[in-house]
Amino acid sequence: MAYNMKKKILCLLLACGLLAFAGCGQTTVSGQSDTDTESATQDVFAMDTYMTVTAYGDGAEEAVSAAIAEIERLDALLTATDDTGETYTVNQNGGGSLSEDGMYLLERSLELYESTEGAFNVAIFPVMTAWGFVDDAFGVPSEAELKEALALLDVSSILVDTDGSTVTFAREGMAIDFGGIAKGYTSSRVIQILEEYGIESAVVNLGGNVQVLGEKVDGSAWRVGILDPANPDEGIGVLETIDCAVITSGGYERCFEEDGVIYHHIIDPSTGYPAENGLASVTIVSQDGTLADALSTSLFVMGLEKATAFWQKNSDSFDVIFITDSGEIYVTEGIADDFTAEQEVSVIEAQ
Ligand code: AMP
Ligand code: MG
Repeated sequence: MAYNMKKKILCLLLACGLLAFAGCGQTTVSGQSDTDTESATQDVFAMDTYMTVTAYGDGAEEAVSAAIAEIERLDALLTATDDTGETYTVNQNGGGSLSEDGMYLLERSLELYESTEGAFNVAIFPVMTAWGFVDDAFGVPSEAELKEALALLDVSSILVDTDGSTVTFAREGMAIDFGGIAKGYTSSRVIQILEEYGIESAVVNLGGNVQVLGEKVDGSAWRVGILDPANPDEGIGVLETIDCAVITSGGYERCFEEDGVIYHHIIDPSTGYPAENGLASVTIVSQDGTLADALSTSLFVMGLEKATAFWQKNSDSFDVIFITDSGEIYVTEGIADDFTAEQEVSVIEAQ
């Protein structure tokens, strides 16, 4: 079965679905046609997904072009699978120099390894390779192969020289993978660039991960659709938000089937297997896109109970929408009033 094709179609659906929800797919926002606000939209295929940047206000065209150029630059730089990427090069050579972007992402990833007690592991690349997620040669790895890959998840063997902007892997075969954090960093950078161009209202959609700047031109909040993991071409709820990244991790986003079992791409570093703990998707809402992306992956790995405790300790920096395998929805207190769904929603309270 052409899972890659399936994935591409799904990505398209995700992108379209969110655009429809966000109401920002055209050059004018619905309800804004009587205003003469300038606006611009551009699409690009990068980081293996469809991305759209839409901005409103004077200079929108130029700002969106600069944003697209930044997406293309980061795509070429951060890829672990193409020799344009410094990530690829350090992985090939057991270390080397990193750009400011690469260094920032590596250092944040290492901090997140600590704060998530290992749920976020930037050294996951050998395990992704073992499962065939890197080259689309999907398959369940042998126990021996997995054991070997697991031994390479030793984050303490990533030696960073901040002043020299270099990294060294103290174990042969180690390799890093920014797949769990790069899109959120990219959307944050895009928002920063749009702001530098004086834009105050914009939306960035990176394959279903959304970050918005300000509010809509009519002064209302952006409406971001949250997909139903059991039926990912349909929405399950809508979040109203201003100035936030809304980033989702779900097993349905990239997976394959073998002998009737579905295996997805979010790996529990303690087992080397796709995390299976009752969660179907985790959406993080935060002003910090980089954090939102890394935590969507991490909280998916943790499962509802641990993730709830993690949020309760860190509730000032993000909020969460959890959807379980059985379709229950839980939202954290900070966004409870901003999220609507047809079905019942349980609210997780801060302690
Ligand atoms: P996301 O869709 O943001 O959850 O990212 C999933 C991607 O992150 C995977 O395709 C891998 O590249 C990477 N990844 C998978 N598991 C982990 C993990 N436990 N920690 C860090 N990155 C991971
Ligand atoms: Mg992520």
